[in-house]
Amino acid sequence: MDKSMSYVQKHRAITKSRLANFVSDGQWEDVNARTAINEACASGKPHIELGVWSAPGQERPAFEHAVQQQFAPIDVGHVFTPSWSTHWVRAAIQIPKEFAGKPVRLEFDASCEAMVWSDAGEPLQGLTGGNSQRRCEFTLADRAGADEPLRVLYLEVACNGMFGNGLSNFLAAPDANRKFPLKTMRLVVPNVEGRALIEELAVLRAMSNGLDQDSPRAWHALAAANDAINAFTAGDQKSIAAARAAVAGFFAAKGGDGNHQVYAIGNCHIDTAWLWPYDETKRKIARSWAAQLDLLDRYPEYRFAASQAQQFEWLQELYPRLFERIQAKAKTGQFIPIGGTWIEMDCNVPSGEALARQFLLGQRYFERHFGVRAKVFWLPDTFGYSSQIPQIMRLAGTEYFYTQKLSWNNINKFPHTTFRWIGLDGSTVLTHMSPAETYTADVSIGDLIDSIKKHKDVVYSNESLYLYGHGDGGGGPCEDMLERLRLVGDLDGLPRVKHAHPNEFYEHVDRTARDLVSWKGELYFELHRGTYTTQAATKKCNRQAEFALRDAELLSVIAQSAARGFAYPAAELERLWKLVCLNQFHDVLPGTSIEMVYKDTDKIYADVLGSVAGLKQSAVVALAGHAAAQSPDAATGVLLVNTTGWPRTEVVAVPAAGPAGGSWQTRASDGARLMVAAAVPGCGTAVVDATSTAAAIPGSSTSSSDLSVEEQTGVAPVGAFEDKDGNVVLENIYVTAKISKSSGQLVSLWDRRAERELVPPGRAGNVFRLHDDAPLYWDAWDIEIYSMEKFAEQPAAEVTVADAGPLVASACVQVPIGKGSSRLKQWVSLSATSPRLNFDCEVDWHENRKCLKVGFTWDIHSDYATYDTQFGVVQRPTHRNTTWEMAKFEVCGHKFADLSEYGYGVALLNDCKYGYATLGSTMSLSLLRASKAPDANCDMGRHTFRYAVYPHAGTFTESDVVREAYQFNVPLVQLPVDAAGAGAVAGAGPFFSVEGAPSVVLDTVKAAEGDSRCVVVRLYETYGGHARATLVTRLPAASAHLANILEERTADAKVVAAPAATATAAAAGDGHAIELAFKPFEVVTVKLELKA
Ligand SMILES: [Zn+2]
Repeated sequence: MDKSMSYVQKHRAITKSRLANFVSDGQWEDVNARTAINEACASGKPHIELGVWSAPGQERPAFEHAVQQQFAPIDVGHVFTPSWSTHWVRAAIQIPKEFAGKPVRLEFDASCEAMVWSDAGEPLQGLTGGNSQRRCEFTLADRAGADEPLRVLYLEVACNGMFGNGLSNFLAAPDANRKFPLKTMRLVVPNVEGRALIEELAVLRAMSNGLDQDSPRAWHALAAANDAINAFTAGDQKSIAAARAAVAGFFAAKGGDGNHQVYAIGNCHIDTAWLWPYDETKRKIARSWAAQLDLLDRYPEYRFAASQAQQFEWLQELYPRLFERIQAKAKTGQFIPIGGTWIEMDCNVPSGEALARQFLLGQRYFERHFGVRAKVFWLPDTFGYSSQIPQIMRLAGTEYFYTQKLSWNNINKFPHTTFRWIGLDGSTVLTHMSPAETYTADVSIGDLIDSIKKHKDVVYSNESLYLYGHGDGGGGPCEDMLERLRLVGDLDGLPRVKHAHPNEFYEHVDRTARDLVSWKGELYFELHRGTYTTQAATKKCNRQAEFALRDAELLSVIAQSAARGFAYPAAELERLWKLVCLNQFHDVLPGTSIEMVYKDTDKIYADVLGSVAGLKQSAVVALAGHAAAQSPDAATGVLLVNTTGWPRTEVVAVPAAGPAGGSWQTRASDGARLMVAAAVPGCGTAVVDATSTAAAIPGSSTSSSDLSVEEQTGVAPVGAFEDKDGNVVLENIYVTAKISKSSGQLVSLWDRRAERELVPPGRAGNVFRLHDDAPLYWDAWDIEIYSMEKFAEQPAAEVTVADAGPLVASACVQVPIGKGSSRLKQWVSLSATSPRLNFDCEVDWHENRKCLKVGFTWDIHSDYATYDTQFGVVQRPTHRNTTWEMAKFEVCGHKFADLSEYGYGVALLNDCKYGYATLGSTMSLSLLRASKAPDANCDMGRHTFRYAVYPHAGTFTESDVVREAYQFNVPLVQLPVDAAGAGAVAGAGPFFSVEGAPSVVLDTVKAAEGDSRCVVVRLYETYGGHARATLVTRLPAASAHLANILEERTADAKVVAAPAATATAAAAGDGHAIELAFKPFEVVTVKLELKA
């Protein structure tokens, strides 16, 4: 080599191309650095002998079962198929004598995922075949002996890629018959020096390209690499040493003290289900984490984090030995359980209590099995973050938040990297989003440079977190990434990098960062807005399960206290909550998984809803005691239990097979009999005697009474009639609603008390619009802003009176959707007891990339609408002045959204929907979507759902919308009883009530974890003001204290006798009261210890 021949500075681009060619496979791989990957290889007999046994269907049999089967001989080229099938390969391996003294590896690439097992049944390491993010080597010996024995390994081959089995691209619905050829099966002796040289040249190449082109280090990187290429000769081992010597000087230059500090943490983000089902995830976990155990041994400085308690629990059940090895590595601090939640959940749709349970289940699991509590809430990949998360995090023992997803915003760039996130109630958590903008990085030099360049708060905090490792079954970091970190961890021109526990990063930032900026309120994700709506059945089951579990826990606490011998079903409730929390995973509940996943969730929800119904029934039967009817026919009345925390008067529907006697209005749609339930106390019971004349109403065939409806039922009747134009009018003492004969739309809603028309002239409500809904790329994920521009109104074909009153009046509206293959039928109803106008819908849905929305335009003027969120409400603009406001063209709301001006408002309630939009005075609710990827049949078929409009005097904060929305979702619990005997149950007043603060909601009542002598009551302030409330209970409370979500004491509370003046306090002076103070939107947990 003649140095005087080098004119690199005059032909920079040519030298860069030369370097690129020198480290790349392809055209020059037979003469470039790629020739130095391996020293030697051996394949075929006698070195390797292969046999296969294919499991039937989509079974995933255990090792013990598989190894007893007959193995048929195969060789390289064998094709594993179909998709999702499992094949066990038996490999008899003889290491050649000439490999003695050298490291030997097995290279196995079946184009899919696989697990290496020892012949003793120990899972050793996961492998990922295919073309990208490969992990195909398994270490057989660090130094082979001269006379290695024949050894047998098993390879469990899973017929799916890292990202499932998409037909045309990874997001497409799965191909059922994908083929996976066995491309490679051989023994290799890695060329350690050669691989190190390739790594060094790759770094030099990236630095010569990625650094400031005027910087000396960019030039020096290129010059050093050029020298190395000149020194290298293919096939000459000595030349590798010479080439490495040529670059040694470059790598000896260290970084300065002021360098940016990167904290690197390995991870392998495993989506708990997504483009594969839960059962495959269980194997992905084992494969990935087993792969990491080996690396943690080889690289003692290395740290690896894994989240999601559910994944650990699966491993514990299915791979107990592997779990023990992970526990041991956790003790040394190398394997880091992180996150604090049961799974990495969606944070838009789950209820407040469900989010609390995610932490309760997660933190308790990590404490029990790893002796640690997570300080970092770990959520790299979730589609938006509700404003109550900081408070819930704090109450669950976490104080630091990690996410990354907001870097995907497609309208506004989120302006911060390291900041203090202030939640709805003012709780603050230190939050960080990796400036490298990925959680599955590969230690590329570009990422490290981005850690500085894209850090938006580097002026305040000169450090960042870097998450690297292949995700989703790819096994996390590979050897090359760890080698690269050794090479560049302290190198002039790049940030310093150290392996660290994420806590170390956050604690250091917390201590040293100056003047960090704040962000108040929700972290709205400007993408994936379709996830509030997609997979409608899953979202409906989730809502139902959340409320059913709420009922079951409350009723079980009451039954345990009031009924002798009833035991709180703690284990079963925990099992069911774990299932509900599992399905809240951030690709399952949002609706972005493949069809197989939803077949699983259907089964899980059937189990959950069936089991919870059984628990509710057992508790209510125990509560009713002797009065419980042996059969519905034998009943003479109905026991009603109100599980909301306030008294209710409403019309209830009793199944046609209910108690005989009396007679009520029969509902046209389903034959249910209607009756008035008057003043059922909150968390209390009432009995309606079906045989008494008071329950009967005139106009029915069996009534013998001459009394008026009002005299008999205590409520003024509701009626339905057609006006002179044929429009259907529903009218009670509160409102008059007019449904257009021609369109089915709500053309008038007159508030009789306020004497006010709510529908502006020429406008309407209950307007169905079918929007084009083809987003830019992420089909199931996204509703795009341009979809709001293109739609067709869907007028009704038929509008008729269905029920004429006197307890419920309704119109039946039939709407053909689209080209007529889909249909909607709804009953618009008004009861005698409420101004709430209900819309009960059945839809047969067969569309392609369409979104059905229903809209209501009100004569209400407001710049903001209010949306129900976890434990509170959030306001969002009704206008689009700025791009930030415009980006919220579709937002998440829970049970309701409200549009109020001074003095008056209207809420739009729902029983299972989450996608709202408000523009000007029009509020709409997204009902159904029709995405085709990754589930080709998403949402096709029959749906039922309900929504309602609830007009109210006063602005939102003066209204009882929150209570109304609970009532819309939480029907009174019914049990057929012997009416005479049930009086004792009914007469005892509320078991719990909240006095003195209408803004405080009693949300959850449950037995304490691990101690059913203690009762946990969770309440929250919902309108955003300070409040003083008294929690009154009839349960025999001996003492009380305030607690966090983990049910640990946080402050004292005093139990006093309930004030006699309290109207709804427990009877006979045996009530107990606890005084509580609330800050705006505060969640308060009270733990009561009951008398023995
Ligand atoms: Zn994910």
